Amino acid sequence: MLKVAKFGGSSVASAEQFKKVKEIVKMDASRKFVVVSAVGKANKDDNKITDLLYLCYAHIKYNMNCDAVFNIIEKKFCDIAKELNLKFDIKGELAKLKEKLDNKSISEEYLVSRGEYLTALLMAEYLGYRFIDAKDVIFYNYDNTFDYIKSEKAFEEITKTGENFIIPGFYGSFPNKDVKLMTRGGGDVTGAIIASLANADVYENWTDVSGVLMADPRIIPNPLPIEVINYNELRELSYMGASVLHEEAVFPVALKKIPIQIRNTNKPEDVGTIINNSDEGAFKHIITGIAGKKDFSIITIRKVHMSNEVGLIRKALSVFEDYNVSIEHIPSGVDSFSVVVETKAVKPFVYELMGKLKKATSAGEVTLTSEISLIATVGLGMKNYKGLSGRLFSAIGKAGINIVVISQTSDEINIIVGVHNSDYEKTIRTIYYEFNPQ
Ligand code: ASP
Repeated sequence: MLKVAKFGGSSVASAEQFKKVKEIVKMDASRKFVVVSAVGKANKDDNKITDLLYLCYAHIKYNMNCDAVFNIIEKKFCDIAKELNLKFDIKGELAKLKEKLDNKSISEEYLVSRGEYLTALLMAEYLGYRFIDAKDVIFYNYDNTFDYIKSEKAFEEITKTGENFIIPGFYGSFPNKDVKLMTRGGGDVTGAIIASLANADVYENWTDVSGVLMADPRIIPNPLPIEVINYNELRELSYMGASVLHEEAVFPVALKKIPIQIRNTNKPEDVGTIINNSDEGAFKHIITGIAGKKDFSIITIRKVHMSNEVGLIRKALSVFEDYNVSIEHIPSGVDSFSVVVETKAVKPFVYELMGKLKKATSAGEVTLTSEISLIATVGLGMKNYKGLSGRLFSAIGKAGINIVVISQTSDEINIIVGVHNSDYEKTIRTIYYEFNPQ
């Protein structure tokens, strides 16, 4: 049995948390690979090292002194090292970093990656695990795609000694060795990549919640936990805003069918959520979870007799492509179709884009509806259940909520409704309680 255990920022936020990590790791000898995020928030008023490092960079970019922010970073790291009696020269490392910052001889990506780098070095000593710099095993091409073959070769070479290893999350390197940062929360992706490279039996993702919940607990008090969820269901939920796991962390492990287990560092006795390839959940419940995101825009193109015209949608989509805008959904009618996009992706040039759309399609009308939320109801079980969408829509209707847009793919794993931002929370509550009566 081989396990990769990834610990998120809150799991390594203090010396106290480091101790919990050690207990968990030492409890099971199969936890041979550990991945860590940067020291995170020890409480809700605290700051993440990653955010503080970004803040330092912003200071030097605008020629401001960053000493005050850097001191907070230094104190957080030094307090952990001191309390755990670690020998690693954290002060010296930070002094070197500060010098580079003061000379402005540092890139933002390199600076920010030092959060996980230093956290992993401290944890390496504390656990007695061998440190591997992520830049030496996680390789990217210049187009930001992951170079699996090169990474696999390096990983095999470094790990052939069979020791226990620790790897910092959140970054890798480009072919010229420059640091490549992942998107925020990317430590999950590193964990997934390492699990795949190591051909692990399980990828454990240790965080501060006991698994994935059926809905956002800020909207539904004490939502039911999800015990088992399929990779595709989780992907749909994380894409739509469920924030337990980074959405890109599913691919590397799903390809090799390695199960992911979400677990709570503060409650290691809880089983958490298992994410795997099976569809067993489909027979246990109708819906698996609900997630949503606010702030989408719908651009609608109306043209009489559109349905007889070949190539019209392509012409419209190429305009979005010219602006490098990623499209979420394309619901269509007889004489119109809509394109749903994130508002922030089109905001700076939306009227210009609409003008180009009108020209490219010779449409009668191009309109914009903003402040839309998309809410996904996800579940493999939905396809076994006739009348599900009727039940969903009528519950939303009875609650007096106007549905602006509906989208469902033919695999029936996901029904998406678009509502006004002001109805977002109410819609989630309505769907949740329809399927989980109080
Ligand atoms: N430290 C990074 C962040 O705060 C990456 C991670 O925690 O996974 O986004």
